[in-house]
Amino acid sequence: MKEPTRQTDVLLVGFGPVGATMANLLGEYGVQVLAIDKATEIFPKPRAISLDNEALRILQLAGLREGAFDTVAIPEVRMCSPGLGLFARVRTAGCVDGHPKLVTFHQPELEAALRNRTRQHPSVVLELGVELGDFGERGRSGELGGFGERGRWGKVGGFGGRGRWEGSGELDVLGG
Ligand SMILES: Cc1cc2nc3c(=O)[nH]c(=O)nc-3n(C[C@H](O)[C@H](O)[C@H](O)COP(=O)(O)OP(=O)(O)OC[C@H]3O[C@@H](n4cnc5c(N)ncnc54)[C@H](O)[C@@H]3O)c2cc1C
Repeated sequence: MKEPTRQTDVLLVGFGPVGATMANLLGEYGVQVLAIDKATEIFPKPRAISLDNEALRILQLAGLREGAFDTVAIPEVRMCSPGLGLFARVRTAGCVDGHPKLVTFHQPELEAALRNRTRQHPSVVLELGVELGDFGERGRSGELGGFGERGRWGKVGGFGGRGRWEGSGELDVLGG
């Protein structure tokens, strides 16, 4: 039986906030993206708790409109240590380029907003429950192996001499 074959320009491994933002940025330009994550769900606990104006600008570029996830502006940051007590105050009130200088947010909600946005890009395919096991280059092609609930990923080709992609890579999904 012939194995099903996938073609992609970009393989994104990991669909946390960084991978999901990258997928949306590439999707805005119609780049073919295959994104995989070994997890099947968004990690439910908050981890990162603040974003600065630059991060908010990038999320806007990635297609998140104002109000896509809740933020609360942080007007001042106080730095304390057990030995010195309060040793610095940073004024973070105000905006840069229309974005607050610093906000707090709930990471799972941001990730959900990014995933919702990803669904609007037909060139972006997301496969959850798929883990990249290893990756290596051999001659003009790369190889990857991964195991997950959705099957095993086979080989990917398309590396040029200096590690650059030459055209589309090819992914074989074995047993998926
Ligand atoms: C307890 C804790 C507290 C934190 N507090 C803060 C904070 O206060 N401020 C702050 O800025 N940051 C904080 N962080 C860091 C925060 O989690 C990261 O900034 C953010 O999650 C990084 O996003 P990411 O997309 O790069 O990585 P991650 O969110 O880690 O996402 C990586 C994804 O890749 C997937 N993955 C990994 N390996 C594979 C593989 N081989 N195949 C397929 N998928 C794979 C994982 O399942 C995961 O979904 C904290 C982290 C922890 C653990």
